[in-house]
Amino acid sequence: MRIFTDFTGGNIHVLEQTGDVVRIEPELRDTMGVWFYWAFAVEGAAGRTLMFDMAPLKWVGPWGPAVSFDLVHWRWLGGGDHSRFTYTFPSDEPVYFAHDLLYHPDRFFRLAERLNLPVQTLCTSERGRKVPCVRLGEGSPAVLLSARHHCCEATGSYVLEGVLETLTKTPLPGSVLVVPFVDYDGVLDGDQGKNRAPHDHNRDYIDAPIYASIREIKKDAVARGLQYAFDFHSPWHWGGMNDCAFVVRSSGEMLKCQQAFGQKLEQLLTPDALRYRTAHDLDPETDWNKSAHMKGCLRGFMSTLPEMKLVLTLETTYYGEPDNIVTQENLVAFGRCVGRAIYQTVTECSQ
Ligand SMILES: [Zn+2]
Repeated sequence: MRIFTDFTGGNIHVLEQTGDVVRIEPELRDTMGVWFYWAFAVEGAAGRTLMFDMAPLKWVGPWGPAVSFDLVHWRWLGGGDHSRFTYTFPSDEPVYFAHDLLYHPDRFFRLAERLNLPVQTLCTSERGRKVPCVRLGEGSPAVLLSARHHCCEATGSYVLEGVLETLTKTPLPGSVLVVPFVDYDGVLDGDQGKNRAPHDHNRDYIDAPIYASIREIKKDAVARGLQYAFDFHSPWHWGGMNDCAFVVRSSGEMLKCQQAFGQKLEQLLTPDALRYRTAHDLDPETDWNKSAHMKGCLRGFMSTLPEMKLVLTLETTYYGEPDNIVTQENLVAFGRCVGRAIYQTVTECSQ
């Protein structure tokens, strides 16, 4: 039996194995404080029933771990509690377990092929990789679509996929820059990405950014006179507001546009989509959404651009609620609705 992490997104530290109990914990790497992302695989365990235990940590979701046999299709195992789960291996083939429904970058490249999106290179990452991006159209209005400023936040990628499905059927006027994996190294290497030392990608919108992707996004925003920025995230692990999809609201002028966007989205929601209610949107100066904590984040920087009309940060839950459980399909369907709301917002305001 082999427990391994040498695959895209892999992250676990095996503390101890006693009989059929394996004690594990996430690798924090350069994250300051604690975070909850983990993903590992097991092979050669045919017929065995193993318990994976991360107590006292509680980083297993309410529907158990996400399970996959191919890193493409993911489902919830169910059962277990927030600290541990048990699995009986049907064969020696690898089985992947993760905190949430992982989104493999190859899925994005297949999407780009299917939708005929030309994938280009935004920049070279800190670890020497070509960070992908897509550029569509020309001129004004100028739009940014981005995900994975925090690399572990996979639900943002499914939402972006749906957005792109809509916006290839009904193209936006003007120009669009899509950055699907802002922290591409982190996505591939399975980092937490949140609260990286000295700061993470979404605190790098400063005068001299330390990450190449942020330098390029900033430069592009200024060069094109950006008017709309849509940035897709996942919230904290689980519980309360983290079990919903919600817009992170700003104070001042931007607030009205964000509220209008939320209302549009709620009206455009289809039955196959993950549920969304404006009532769940996070008001300014509430919970962690404090202006004092905004220094260096995309929302703060983009809001200062002279032509900016709407900066929208959308957080989409990892798990959902018992009557609104997250699946790969309803996340993408939700993204299609977000795409329709983006289309309406940009075309109405640009007439
Ligand atoms: Zn985030």
